[in-house]
Amino acid sequence: MLILEKAPKGEEGGNSRVAGQGWCTVAPVNTAITYFNALCGAYTVEQGIVRAWAEEMGRNTDWVKSLGGNAVEIGKGPEGAEFPDLPGAECVRMYTIDGSLGYERLWKVLKASVDKRRIEVLYATQGKELIQDSQTKEIIGVRTEGKGAPFSLKARRAVVLTCGGFESNQEMIRDFLPNLVCCYPVGTPYNTGDGIKMAMAVGADLWHMNNISGPWYYLKVPEFPSVMELVPQHQRKEIPGGMIIVAADGKRFKSEKHDVTYGKHNVTHGKIKVAGQWIQAPAPYPMFMIIDHTLFSAGPLHDNNLYHGWNSLLKVYNWSEDNSAELAKGWIKKAATIAGLARKIGLNPTAVEDTINKWNAYCSAGNDAEFGRTKMLSPIKDGPFYAIEISPAFSSTQGGPRRNARSQIVRPDGSSIPRLYSAGELGSIHSYLYQGGGNLGECMAFGRISGRNAAAEKPRV
Ligand SMILES: Cc1cc2nc3c(=O)[nH]c(=O)nc-3n(C[C@H](O)[C@H](O)[C@H](O)COP(=O)(O)OP(=O)(O)OC[C@H]3O[C@@H](n4cnc5c(N)ncnc54)[C@H](O)[C@@H]3O)c2cc1C
Repeated sequence: MLILEKAPKGEEGGNSRVAGQGWCTVAPVNTAITYFNALCGAYTVEQGIVRAWAEEMGRNTDWVKSLGGNAVEIGKGPEGAEFPDLPGAECVRMYTIDGSLGYERLWKVLKASVDKRRIEVLYATQGKELIQDSQTKEIIGVRTEGKGAPFSLKARRAVVLTCGGFESNQEMIRDFLPNLVCCYPVGTPYNTGDGIKMAMAVGADLWHMNNISGPWYYLKVPEFPSVMELVPQHQRKEIPGGMIIVAADGKRFKSEKHDVTYGKHNVTHGKIKVAGQWIQAPAPYPMFMIIDHTLFSAGPLHDNNLYHGWNSLLKVYNWSEDNSAELAKGWIKKAATIAGLARKIGLNPTAVEDTINKWNAYCSAGNDAEFGRTKMLSPIKDGPFYAIEISPAFSSTQGGPRRNARSQIVRPDGSSIPRLYSAGELGSIHSYLYQGGGNLGECMAFGRISGRNAAAEKPRV
C-alpha cells in the first residue's frame, strides 16, 4: 500500500490533523437513519448509502480503541447532537481522544497506525491524473508530480481518493458555492479540489458541491494561506470593550459571536434559521470588525492557543501582546473617530455611525433586537477606534465525486468506475445540515468501507 501526500513532510495530514478531533458515532442504526435523513431535509441521499453510513459510523469508537486510542465520550444523545430537535437526534454520541478537543489527538493515533504497518508515504507528491484503461474503464494507476520529474504509479488493486475538498481553490468556490465571492481555509492550504478534477476526468458524477462547513469570519492576510481566528469572536471568550462586524453597506448582518445555542457544542457550522428554514449564513465581502480602544487594549486579538486550525499549529504567527505589530503592518486600521475610520476602510461614515448608535442602544437595553446576540453586549464608545478586514472562511467543503454504499465513485448513470474508491470530505455524504464530528466520523467509516473493498479487488496482472 502506498499513500501519496501532496504536502511536504511536516505539513502532512490535511484538515484531519488540525481539526478539533471530535468524532461522532451513531446508534441504533434505524434511529441514526432517521436523524441523517432529517439532516438532509429536501437534499435527500440514496438510502443504501445512508444505511451504510449508519451501520459503519456505529463502529468508529471501537475501531479507534482497537488502534490504541483512548476514546472518551464528550456528548451523548441530544447533548452531543448539533440539531437536537430533529427526529433521531438521540442516536449521536460524540467522542474525542482523552476527553478534550484539540488538534492532532485522533490524527496521531491514525498516523501511528500507518507508521506501524510500514505503509509507504510519498511526501510532496501530488496526484495529478488517474490512468484509466480505455477498454475496461478500470483505474489502473495515477500520474503524479513529485520532487523529481512527473512519474506514473501502477495500482495493483485500486485507487482510493482521499485528497480532501476545495477550500483553497477560489475558482471552484466561485463556481460551486452560492453567495461566496471568496472563502479561505481554516485548515490545510493543500486541499485544492484536485481529487474532484481527477474523478471528473474519468467520468465521475458530482454531489453536494454547494454544501460547506461554514462560513466563519476570520482574518486572512496575504502572508498566510489559511485564516486566523480573532479572539473577540470566539464563542468561549468574553472580553471587555465593544465589537461588531459590518459589511460593505456599513451594517451588521448577523450575530458576531458564534453563540447560537443548539446542542452542547453551541455551533451549527454556519447554518442559521431564517423564515423557519436553515440556510447558509451570509458571508458578504468585504467585512470589517470594528472595535473600540477598551477592547484593543484588553490583550492580543489573536491567540495561538485556540484548539484547532492550520495557523495555530503549523504556520504559527506570534501576534504581538499589545496588537502594535499588526497595527504597524496595516492588518489593523486606526482612527480617532468612527467617521474617520469608516473613510479609511472605504465605508459610508454615516451608515457606520448609525450602526454603532443602534448597537450601543441594544447594549443599553441588554437586547440585540436585530440579531439576538447574547455575548459581549458592550457598547463601542472609547476612541480611538479600530477596524480589521474579515474574510469568509470555512473548515471543509462537502462536495465531490458521488459515491455509493461500497464507497465506489460512480458515474452520472449510477454505475461504478471500476477500481476507484473515495472517502472523507472529497464527496462527503453530508448534503445539507452538518452534525459536528460527522466529517471525521465519515472519514473513518467510509475509509474502512473503501479500504475493505479495495483490498478485496482481484490484483491486476
Ligand atoms: C479547523 C478545523 C476543525 C475541524 N474540526 C472537526 C472536528 O472536530 N470533527 C470533525 O468531524 N471534523 C472536523 N473538521 C472537518 C474535518 O477535519 C475534515 O472534514 C476531515 O479531516 C477531512 O478529512 P479528509 O481525509 O477527507 O481530508 P484531509 O484530512 O484534509 O486530507 C486531505 C489530504 O490530501 C492531500 N492532498 C490534497 N490534494 C492532493 C493530491 N492531488 N495528491 C496527493 N495528496 C493530496 C492533502 O495534503 C491532505 O493531506 C474540522 C476542520 C477544520 C479545518
